[in-house]
Amino acid sequence: MRVKGEEMQERILGVLSGRETPASAYDVLDILRRETPKLAPTTIYRALAALVERGRVHRLESLNAYTVCQGEAHRDAPVLAICDDCGSVAEAVSRDVLGALSGIARQSGFSPTRHVIELHGTCATCEDAGGRA
Ligand SMILES: [Zn+2]
Ligand SMILES: [Zn+2]
Repeated sequence: MRVKGEEMQERILGVLSGRETPASAYDVLDILRRETPKLAPTTIYRALAALVERGRVHRLESLNAYTVCQGEAHRDAPVLAICDDCGSVAEAVSRDVLGALSGIARQSGFSPTRHVIELHGTCATCEDAGGRA
């Protein structure tokens, strides 16, 4: 079954928006196959790549998973703070961080094409819960 690219992107956004935690491409595929059993993995990968390109979805390199953009489709790489306890992801865009990284790269003559900024740790909610225990 063929589904138009944009329609597939909207369906993936729907799946990702409904989750508290990031999803892998296969999580998304599993969910969408309930409605469209013959859906091909390449269809999902292509739609996810387009969504990342548009800034609607961010790819979490360290988890090999995807999360919906919490802002207004960031074109700049956000800082993604990933809670290792509950799996929640918080994002923030910092021009200072991006500027500092570009400066470091320039010093060594490196030309970055893509930034990936991920922090792992404990979110405020889990930190509070841990403190009480
Ligand atoms: Zn974002
Ligand atoms: Zn947490």
